[in-house]
This record gives sequence, structure tokens and C-alpha cells, in this order.
Amino acid sequence: MAVVKQVSTVELTVPLQRSMRFATRQVSARDFTLVQIETNDGVIGNGVVYMHVANIIEEKLRPLLLEQDVLDTEKLWRNMYREMYRDRKGAAIRAIGACDIALWDAKGKTLNLPVYKLLGACRDRVPCYGSGGYYRKTGREAINEIQEEVTKYVKSGFRAIKMKVGGLPLNDDLERVRAAREAAGANIEVMLDANNAYDSNTAIRAGKAYEKFDVYWFEEPVWPEDLAGSARVSRALSTPIASGELEYTRYGFRDLIISNAASILQPDAEVVGGVSEWLKVASLAASFNIPVAPHWAQEIHTHLASAVENSIWIEWFAKDLDIRKEDELYTSSVKLEDGFAIPSNEPGFGVKLNEDAIKKFSKRKIE
Ligand SMILES: [Mg+2]
Repeated sequence: MAVVKQVSTVELTVPLQRSMRFATRQVSARDFTLVQIETNDGVIGNGVVYMHVANIIEEKLRPLLLEQDVLDTEKLWRNMYREMYRDRKGAAIRAIGACDIALWDAKGKTLNLPVYKLLGACRDRVPCYGSGGYYRKTGREAINEIQEEVTKYVKSGFRAIKMKVGGLPLNDDLERVRAAREAAGANIEVMLDANNAYDSNTAIRAGKAYEKFDVYWFEEPVWPEDLAGSARVSRALSTPIASGELEYTRYGFRDLIISNAASILQPDAEVVGGVSEWLKVASLAASFNIPVAPHWAQEIHTHLASAVENSIWIEWFAKDLDIRKEDELYTSSVKLEDGFAIPSNEPGFGVKLNEDAIKKFSKRKIE
């Protein structure tokens, strides 16, 4: 039996080289918690989430994991959730997610299988969309920057790109979208992400204006709790609404689905409660014939999207965009080929930590 012998955490803060903005937030650094779960066989499973949640893990979750069989992920998830269910959303569920991801990584390494095979693979590659189009520069320079980003993604084989909207007056955002569509050409899908910027009236007005650029999806047009508003936007537009990157557990996604707030769901394993809960959300979506396009965490989601029937896209960030600082903390064995993400056959998630970077960006001194 592979028994959990140690659960350790490190909180990290990694600065961006150039700060950036999306509609609702300015970002100059990224916060992470790394969880390491070590078994009696000396296997170490790694789990990372982008929030500082080490206290919850150390005080509440570690005692539930120690001396348990690392293969019993379903039981361990249930026990962690029962401990934390009074919180139901937010940091508590992210902490559970970090542990669950580390457990799945350790399970794969224990059984010497990559996670997508362990789950029962459905495909061996998933199409990616090139994500970016953040607010950094202004005026003509911003337009040039977006066009350069889009051109780079298209040249390297991507068939879809995503950019931010909602951070400028509508006419200025329309110019940015026009520029992206121009650079992409007619055969590339263009997705727009408003990061909860609008109320439903403004979202309908903006969404209708964007429609002339043949938009593939309109992401998070309104505040995440405004399910009725999102449903209203969805009814008013011909562009599909994508949402769910800030939603927690199967229960949050159940409400998104039954309120008709979105017709493309974007569960994020680091947010929703880990691998175990992500799979439940994907199955729930499948039962409504709704596709999933996971948000962020390309090294994790390549495995998960490869293992379910109803995944349509992976969100992919080019390293040189300086958006995803995970790329400095570890190296993933997922390969990118002609716009497709391909999981490797390395056991677990096939991620190797960069120990120097972990030390450098750690908030606490590591002995
Ligand atoms: Mg988004």
C-alpha cells in the first residue's frame, strides 16, 4: 500500500516582468501554493494552486491525509470537503484542490501511469487556443502588440486565439477586436474575455457590437454571481457565453447549467476542487450535452481534457507573454504541436519542479 507519510506546503510569489491589466484587475505578481505529498515508497506528488492557502492545508487538511492510501482519492476528497464544507467556495476549495492534484500526481507516479491514461484516455491530443490580448500598452502601440501576438499564435499553428475586452470604453475595445480579427484572418476563431466587467445591459450592447467580428465565444460578460444576468446576455446574443473559471465544485456548476447562464463551461482544476471534482463537473456538463474548455493550468488540463469526451479546447499561454508564472516554477512534459497539446507518457502530470525558482520565490525561508 502507498501510504501518505508527509504533506508539506510552500507559498510563493512570482513577480511579472511587466505588470498587466484585464478588465477587473491590475496584476504585477502571481501568488501560488505548492503542496507536496510524499508516500512511504518515496514518491512525491506535486500540486499547485494560484492562491496562498498553506494555513488551511497545514491546519485542516494534512491530518486527514497522513497515513491514508494515496490511491483512495475519492474518499480523501470527501473527507476534506466534509471538513471544509461550511466555506463551500473560495480558499477552502482551492486548498482541497491543491491536495487533490498532488494526490493524483502521486497516484500516477505510484502506478507508473500518466494521469490521462490512469483516467481512461479518450484522445491523445487536444486543440489549444492561444490566450493573451491583455492590457499593457496604450493607443497605436496596443493595437500593434495585439496584432503581433495574434500573428505569432497563428504562425505557430493555433486555430483560435483569445483576447481581453471590457477594460476600455466600448469603441476602443472594438478597435482592438477589429485589429485581432484582421491579424487572425477569416479562418481563425476569435474568443473574447470580459473578466466580469459588465452589467447585463452593457454586456448585451457590447456583445452585439462584437458580433460583427464573428466571435466564437463571449467569456464571463457579467459578475460570476449574476447567473440571471448571464442568462439574459446569453438569450440576447447569438455568440455563445463561456463561463465557470471562478466557479467552485459540482454544485456551483449545477447552478450555472440550470440557470442557462453559459453554454460552454470552463472549470479550472485549481479552482473547482482538484482533479476529482473537475471530472464530476465534466460529466455533469456532458449529461446536458455541454462542452468544457478548461481555464488556465495547461499542464494539468491537457491530461484531464484528453480523458473526457466533451472537452473542446485547452487554454494555452505562450511562455514569452510573461502571463503564466508557473512556467518559471516548473517544466511540463506536455508538448505543443501545430496548435495541439499532447500529454507525455511520464507518470503523473509529468511536471518537474525548478528547485532554484521554488527557493527564490518562496515566502518563507526553506531550510
Ligand atoms: Mg477568463
